[in-house]
Amino acid sequence: MVNDALLKAVEDELDGAHCRLRFADDVEARFEADTQRQRSRNMVLAGVISAIIYCLFLINDYSFRPEAFATAVQLRMGVMLPFGLSVLWWVYRGVSPVLRETLMASTVVVATVVSCLIFAKSVAPYSYLDVFSFGLILLVGNIVYSLRFSYACASSAASIVIILAFVLPYEPMPVEAKRLAIFTIIAMGIFSLVANYRFELSERTSYLHVLKEKIRAGYYLKDNQKLSQLSITDPLTNLANRRQFDAVLPVRWKEAIDKGMCMGLMVIDIDYFKAYNDFYGHPQGDICLQQVAKAMHDNSRDADLVVRLGGEEFVVLMVNASSEATNVAAERIRASIAALRIPNFGVSHQAYITVSVGVAVLSPTDELTPTDLLSAADRALYEAKRQGRNAIRMANLAGSPSDGDAAGDLDRLSR
Ligand code: GH3
Ligand code: MG
Ligand code: MG
Repeated sequence: MVNDALLKAVEDELDGAHCRLRFADDVEARFEADTQRQRSRNMVLAGVISAIIYCLFLINDYSFRPEAFATAVQLRMGVMLPFGLSVLWWVYRGVSPVLRETLMASTVVVATVVSCLIFAKSVAPYSYLDVFSFGLILLVGNIVYSLRFSYACASSAASIVIILAFVLPYEPMPVEAKRLAIFTIIAMGIFSLVANYRFELSERTSYLHVLKEKIRAGYYLKDNQKLSQLSITDPLTNLANRRQFDAVLPVRWKEAIDKGMCMGLMVIDIDYFKAYNDFYGHPQGDICLQQVAKAMHDNSRDADLVVRLGGEEFVVLMVNASSEATNVAAERIRASIAALRIPNFGVSHQAYITVSVGVAVLSPTDELTPTDLLSAADRALYEAKRQGRNAIRMANLAGSPSDGDAAGDLDRLSR
């Protein structure tokens, strides 16, 4: 379900029927998916504790109705325990919500039947006192298991009917005691159902609030991610901006030292851009910047960082790049911009927009800094400008993996 729709459905649930114990289908499915695992585990734990206590009642059986003890052992340990543990194992493995509630509710009903059979089997003087403890079985279903309300109602009603069926015809029990016991059991059933209802309602309401906050937090996170992306992107060209470059350069520098790789850097400046701006106006200058930026981006590898440093000045940062590869890349960029054939009448009627590129390549070491790389490329750019523009110049760096007269080669390349 799309988050917008889910958020709307959750808000509708919170605004709407406050006492409903079932959400709209989509929200209910999400509720079950989110809570099922924990709920099953809680139920199984509650079931194990209840099973132990149910078996401990054998102590009472032994003390006040020893003649029915053998039956009690058979029914509690031989019937109830295997049945209950099988149900718990099943629920623990994971079953549908309906089956989970039905199975757990069935343990309540079976426990009632088993307790009634033990009670009916005995004629010991105080055996009937056991009837007062039957209400505990209802408490287990309604509070300890916290069955869903409808299942709690159904299992409580079934248990009370079964108890009535056994207790009413049981002669050794005085009628006053019967009345008190039945009244007590019904009251325990009602009280525990009220608690059960409130518990489920508050569980569902809290779930809705938490879900709502989670969905909203997801939106905030997305907004934050968008904002962070915006803060490191140049709005005019969509290239990385100076902030991103300043953050990435030291990281890539360190990586290159660790992996013993070369780093290549181009500083690219549009030629006679002031004249272009003066002739065509600033808005047209912006369009030109976008076209040039696109050409740079389209002619770089995905791994390269293409940055608008500011104004009409760009850099391309290349990792694991040899001098040769960097020069080829620089030439590809230079040529692609010249190929745009953007007229620059601000210079002359034959002039087109071109760029000059300063290239520096080196193997980073702890003795050098990223600024060394940038300054070297900058100096090479200045040289390219000085020698006539629309050209690539290679910095002559100590420690550069340059292959001799790269500047000379490039000069030929770029003409
Ligand atoms: P050179 O060949 O020596 O680089 O000459 P140039 O004219 O390109 O260099 P200069 O530094 O003199 O001019 C750069 C111009 O870039 C000045 C300014 O009008 C223009 N500029 C800087 N930022 C922007 C921008 O965001 N939009 C537009 N349209 N123009 C810009
Ligand atoms: Mg310029
Ligand atoms: Mg400039």
